[in-house]
Amino acid sequence: MDQKTQQPASEDRSEDRTARSAPAECARCGATSENLPITWTCSVEGGERLYFCDYCGRTHLRSIEGRLNSAWW
Ligand SMILES: [Zn+2]
Repeated sequence: MDQKTQQPASEDRSEDRTARSAPAECARCGATSENLPITWTCSVEGGERLYFCDYCGRTHLRSIEGRLNSAWW
């Protein structure tokens, strides 16, 4: 299934696949998990996909939903 099909958007699906198979790392506290837990939060900042662990996701939920870059936290 390696056919080259045009992706409708520049959204990186390959990155998405990588996230599922590779360890996820929290962009805030650096916690890692073998698989991306459903409780983790995904935030896109400047086109880059960042993940936040359960704790950081809850702590900074408002900032994440407000689409503020983590640099502002
Ligand atoms: Zn964290």
